[in-house]
Amino acid sequence: MVTTVCDRCKKHVALTDDVIELQSIIQNDQHLPFTIKKCRHIRCSPSSAQWIIHPDFDLITDSRPKYNKKQYPLEQQKTFEKQYTNAWLELKLKQHKESKNQRIQLLTC
Ligand SMILES: [Zn+2]
Repeated sequence: MVTTVCDRCKKHVALTDDVIELQSIIQNDQHLPFTIKKCRHIRCSPSSAQWIIHPDFDLITDSRPKYNKKQYPLEQQKTFEKQYTNAWLELKLKQHKESKNQRIQLLTC
């Protein structure tokens, strides 16, 4: 990743809130963040964010007909919701581990 500024809202994007990181988990491609030269919040990408179904994530609707998830059969919607939600949870776990490691480093300094 070259930048940490969201190409939509122009605010800083934490690694664990980056849609490219989310996509790299879904596609099982660890090199994806290095090949895509942009950075975007998950919430600033409604086509991806609409698939995350979790009490800690406010529901997002992609109102663009071309990307709205309602165009897919219900079974496929469930599959994508599971993939994206699990990838998002994996990012949250990564964030938790990183903050825990930072605390441990502070304690050992
Ligand atoms: Zn953004």
